[in-house]
Amino acid sequence: MSKCCICPRRCGADRSVNKGFCGGGAEDFKVSKVMVHRGEEPVISGTRGSGAVFFGGCNLRCVYCQNRDISRGGKGVIFSFADLEKAVFSLVDKGVHNIDFITAAHYAPTLAKFLEKNKPKIGVPIVYNSGGYESVQTLKTLDGLIDIYLPDFKYADDSLAEKYSSAPDYRKVAESAIAEMLRQRGQAVIKDGIMQSGVIIRHLVLPSARKNGIAVMRTVAEKFGGALVSIMRQYTPSFNSSEFAELDRKVTSFEYESVVKEAERLNLSGFIQQKGCETSDLTPNFDDIFSE
Ligand code: SF4
Repeated sequence: MSKCCICPRRCGADRSVNKGFCGGGAEDFKVSKVMVHRGEEPVISGTRGSGAVFFGGCNLRCVYCQNRDISRGGKGVIFSFADLEKAVFSLVDKGVHNIDFITAAHYAPTLAKFLEKNKPKIGVPIVYNSGGYESVQTLKTLDGLIDIYLPDFKYADDSLAEKYSSAPDYRKVAESAIAEMLRQRGQAVIKDGIMQSGVIIRHLVLPSARKNGIAVMRTVAEKFGGALVSIMRQYTPSFNSSEFAELDRKVTSFEYESVVKEAERLNLSGFIQQKGCETSDLTPNFDDIFSE
């Protein structure tokens, strides 16, 4: 794979020789965790859980990442196609409601091949859980293979996107990516309380970034009215840095509720999180790849 341009970072790495910005190399996949996930939105986790596969590396590498051991630290195991098949079918055998591929943008071409071969046998909806920094061209290769998109919409504020994720073009990129996801899957289809297809746009409210959250809600209402939103309050400080001292605390109720109120004012519908979820309990343990 010479001069990788799979994602909008377009870092141009020759992944057969070097790792890219995302940490991806020539391997089929790097996987950091395989688990039954009970902490996604109720329509995703349901009663039997979501079959989550976390990929190692990330094309955003946000400074505050809640999964920094795998996104920035590169923790994970090289998986072949056969390894991923074994992992996915072991989750299906556990009765999960869906298979949830988390942060797979940098493995999208191999994931598309994997799903072309295996989707008919998997038999439950396929979820693509994304930071929102995706190339429309790459997303088109997943058309028909993904049932549910869970994109983040992290920033409406370009300066925050640059400061925290080295991606000053994040807002424009995410808007185009979400538009493509909605083109592919449209409005949510929920049957017996479990999502079958569609898009949920997620926003993690950050400390000291209330206005960014409000601006994200306004953008969603203006451009993607009718889409479901999930407003997350689970941010937990995961590092100490004098450079980003404003991130070294939890989100206040005022900050979180300001964003929720704006979503309500705009008649957006979707999901909120109750106070008390902002602990590291919702962060998986990445020490053992197959532990719950
Ligand atoms: S997927 Fe990784 S290697 Fe490819 S362009 Fe994006 S950051 Fe670079």
